[in-house]
Formats: sequence, C-alpha cells, structure tokens
Amino acid sequence: MDLGAETGERGGQRRRRRVLLTALGVLLLVFLLLNGTVMALRWGGAPASPLFARVVTFAEGALPARAEVRVVRPAWLRGLANRLAGPPRVGLQVGHLHAADQPDELAGLRFSTGAHAAGLDEVEVNLAVAEALADRLRARGLLVDLLPATVPPGYRADLFLSIHADSSPDPTRSGYKSAHYRPARNAREALLKVAVDRAYLSATGLPDDDRNVSGNMLEYYAFNVRRFHHAVARSTPALIVELGYLSHHRDRALLQRPDELAAALERGVMTYLRDIGRL
Ligand SMILES: [Zn+2]
Repeated sequence: MDLGAETGERGGQRRRRRVLLTALGVLLLVFLLLNGTVMALRWGGAPASPLFARVVTFAEGALPARAEVRVVRPAWLRGLANRLAGPPRVGLQVGHLHAADQPDELAGLRFSTGAHAAGLDEVEVNLAVAEALADRLRARGLLVDLLPATVPPGYRADLFLSIHADSSPDPTRSGYKSAHYRPARNAREALLKVAVDRAYLSATGLPDDDRNVSGNMLEYYAFNVRRFHHAVARSTPALIVELGYLSHHRDRALLQRPDELAAALERGVMTYLRDIGRL
C-alpha cells in the first residue's frame, strides 16, 4: 500500500466521522428543542421571556387541541429539567375578591360579590383559606400568586386554583365540589381534579356534592380563553373548588377553620405536582 492511498483513506474516515458527529449534534438539538417546548406545554411554567412565550403559543397552536403529550424522561433528566425550570408556580384566585374592579369584558361580574349566609361572607372565607394555603406552599419553596377575581390576561403557572364557598336556600345541602373547564383545556386538568378532590374529601369528611356542579363552574369565566382576554392560559391546568356551604351548620363550622382546609388543599397540590414529575 503506498503512502498516498493510506492518507486518502484516513481523510475519508475523518470526513465520515465529521458527518456522523454533525448529524448527531443536529438530532440532539432537535430533541432538546422539541422536549423543551413539550415540557413548557406540559408544565405551563411562567415563561421567562416574551420570545419564549411566543414559542410556546406557536407550539400550542401547532399541536392538535387537547392532545395528550407524554414524554418518558429518566429521573436524572427530570431532576435537571425541574432545576432549570425553577420552583413550581401556583396561582390562587380568591373568588369574588375586588369584583368591582373587573374589566369591561367582565362588567357583568362587578356585582358578583359571592355568597352570604349566617353573617358570613364567602369572600372572607375564600381569602382566609387562600392566604393560609399560600403560606403553606411558600414554606415548601413554591412560588405563589394570590389573585383577585380578575386574572391577568393569559396567566401562566404550573397550576391554578380558584377558591370559592357556596350557599343554598336548602339548609340541608352540604358538601364539596370542583370543576375544570368543560371540555378540559389540557390533559392535566383531570389529574389536578382527582388529586385535589381526594385530598379534600378525605381530610374534611364532607360529602361529594358533584351532582350540583353548575354551568357557571363548568364554563368558569377565568378559564374561558375563547371569550375573555382576562383568563388563565389554556396550557395551565385550572380548577374551581367550592369548599362547602355557608348555609349548612356543619360546613359553616369547617369553613371557619381556614388552616385545616388549606392543609387539605396543600396535600392535593403536592400530590398533583409529584404525579406529573414536577417535584
Ligand atoms: Zn363564589
């Protein structure tokens, strides 16, 4: 074998290796980009920049509505992704708080000040529970936004809970109920509902009042992205909870112990975040 042929063969090998490495690099880049977008969609994490928000919005539009995206990720990669994403963000809406400040598109809700029964105001109960829950979640290192009846347009978080209490002319009506938008806006809303419902019902012993879920809950204004600008982003799993009836003597006693109720909701939130691999 002469020297020239040997050098030519080596050069060919180097070229093939370079092509292979470049192809691997491109594949890795495409994988990371896709995975990053999918993670952003699944977690609905608060976008760090307007450009990132635009990429997520584009990807949401490009994917079929309510498509369930499942990414199998090893634990170390999940841990790394969670560290990069930062602490989970939770939005807590105090039902009816500052209703008079609703924007024009929601002017019809300016007088929706919540239930009143036996000298108790729903909004005070909602606020006490939301504040206690915020304290508990912050103590665990989570980021919490306490929000009034008006949510910021396109609000994003890892999850969103709208906190309410009910009342009924029937003093025997008792129990807890919750609802995500119908139809569900993303695949994680059902998971959030199951986790929160289980935790709350088992901790409080209240009956499940699911049959009294109203149309207003199933089409809750703050989840209705088609009609309203001031709504939680479609990719953020969102749930409205009715913690009990102010008009029922036993429910009322429970509603006056906000920290107990907050502890039950906290368990539901933490279970959900663990279920989706965000913790
Ligand atoms: Zn309410």
